Amino acid sequence: MSTSARYTREIPQRYRLEAAKCKGCSKLFFPPRLICDECGGKEFEPHRLSDKGKVVSYSVVRIGPSQFVEQVPYIVSVVELEDGVRLTCQVADAKPEELEIGAPVTIEFRKIGEEGDAGIIHYGYKAVLDRFK
Ligand SMILES: [Zn+2]
Repeated sequence: MSTSARYTREIPQRYRLEAAKCKGCSKLFFPPRLICDECGGKEFEPHRLSDKGKVVSYSVVRIGPSQFVEQVPYIVSVVELEDGVRLTCQVADAKPEELEIGAPVTIEFRKIGEEGDAGIIHYGYKAVLDRFK
């Protein structure tokens, strides 16, 4: 098995943008849950979400948790994906004044922080403005 295949397999579900789709009413849940709040269904199938979306709201964080302190100010936004699912994530490479509600973004899997002397690196998704791509 190649390294990249193993790497992909080990990425937790939430990093693969995988939602749960209710078999009863097709409602999407991200992160997945056990019971559908729409129809009470308990059966779901995996649904790979679109990585395309738009900014619904955002806020600028000027005082961050310690592991992000070197990154402030940074932007956290709520992104609505094409599937209608919303997620909260950091916006990469953008200044607050470059962001606007409705701006098209693509979700990418990126390094989000580094911790301590051991240099433990955390990964997660970030939204990248499409016009920067
Ligand atoms: Zn349902």
